[in-house]
Amino acid sequence: MDLENKVKKMTLGHEQGSGAPCLKCKDKCEGFELHFWRKICRNCKCGEEEHDVLSNNEDDRKVGKLFEDTKYTTLIAKLKTDGIPTYKRNVMILTNPVSAKKDVSIKTVTYEWAPPVQNQTLARRYMEMIPKEKQPVAGSEGAQYRKKQLAKQLPAHDQDPSKCHELSPNEVKQMEQFVKKYKNDVLGVGDVKLPKEVEAQAAGKSPTDGDRSSVTTVRSPESKAAAQKPSNFYCFKCKENMREGDPAVYAERAGYDKLWHPSCFVCFVCSELLVDMIYFWKNGKLYCGRHYCDSEKPRCGGCDELIFSNEYTQAEGQNWHLKHFCCFDCDCVLAGEIYVMVNDKPVCKPCYVKNHASSCQGCHNAIDPEVQRVSYNGFHWHATEECFLCSCCSKCLIGQKFMPIEGMVFCSVECKKKMTS
Ligand SMILES: [Zn+2]
Ligand SMILES: [Zn+2]
Ligand SMILES: [Zn+2]
Ligand SMILES: [Zn+2]
Ligand SMILES: [Zn+2]
Ligand SMILES: [Zn+2]
Ligand SMILES: [Zn+2]
Ligand SMILES: [Zn+2]
Repeated sequence: MDLENKVKKMTLGHEQGSGAPCLKCKDKCEGFELHFWRKICRNCKCGEEEHDVLSNNEDDRKVGKLFEDTKYTTLIAKLKTDGIPTYKRNVMILTNPVSAKKDVSIKTVTYEWAPPVQNQTLARRYMEMIPKEKQPVAGSEGAQYRKKQLAKQLPAHDQDPSKCHELSPNEVKQMEQFVKKYKNDVLGVGDVKLPKEVEAQAAGKSPTDGDRSSVTTVRSPESKAAAQKPSNFYCFKCKENMREGDPAVYAERAGYDKLWHPSCFVCFVCSELLVDMIYFWKNGKLYCGRHYCDSEKPRCGGCDELIFSNEYTQAEGQNWHLKHFCCFDCDCVLAGEIYVMVNDKPVCKPCYVKNHASSCQGCHNAIDPEVQRVSYNGFHWHATEECFLCSCCSKCLIGQKFMPIEGMVFCSVECKKKMTS
């Protein structure tokens, strides 16, 4: 397919997940509706990741595509029907007999993802070593955390030109090269292993029998305490030692001389647990996908896509596609216009006055962004003779001492007493 046709075929998935509830706004959002070009909901303005949008299926396809044409193809399977690679996510189901009084019931816990290791004991121990609220137990806060991090750390629009908005053929080509390069050079998946075994392998021998028996023997309370003793392996992040018998995370790109506590295997920028241990290794640091890409390319503050065009603008410490430096409320183009930053988003003057301006305690009208104001304890006044007055005797207080009480200001104790008693 030539590039021209490829570009024509591209559309953002606007139907995808529409109507899904916002987990943050709850009832206040009528349901997810994708903005024309921003990756946010038109109804509540939260990101896609705040909504219960992506099914595990769609997430698996995204990660499958990430691993396509990499050395990690063992983690994906191609569906016979459509040939689309899908992530073979390792789901771990644990069953524990629970005895309550006389009845013995079986309690089943499903981890939506677990490290793909042969030895399930290692996978279980790995889970115990990460914070409870981040353990991806189906139906729990941890499973939601994992899904949100998948959306945040590995945006589909950082790897798939078809998820980007109106790219030129040249931008598509540049993006494809960029993705190919990071797949070849920096992308990796963590490995959960016992440091002793890694050391033994490096020395060219298998672990000694002595090592093995210490793992398999049933421990008395004393020997359990002994198993908690520190080993001489150190975590690359926190520099603390690993406890004897605990698994560590290794990153092939970093070399097997480095290891991490499972809870220390985090992105250098956002400090979040690297989702499914998918990392990007650069200059001696671990990054999540988003923050690796940010370290290589400018990202548009409007559409959240990486910018592959030479023409873009910088404003307010962020980068913007020229066509995307727009009012966050009405989408009008802001080049050459007056705008106000509201929560790091530019807003045009009419929208600011309509939606965000604070009103004056004196005249109750909105305060224009450019005019002088007096602000005190979250209350505002026009800095004029008409508005900033003593609430009792109407004496102008500009340049004077004043006594504030809630939204009122007074010139003197006497005036304050008259109004508040
Ligand atoms: Zn929302
Ligand atoms: Zn919404
Ligand atoms: Zn650590
Ligand atoms: Zn990050
Ligand atoms: Zn943009
Ligand atoms: Zn506007
Ligand atoms: Zn006023
Ligand atoms: Zn007064």
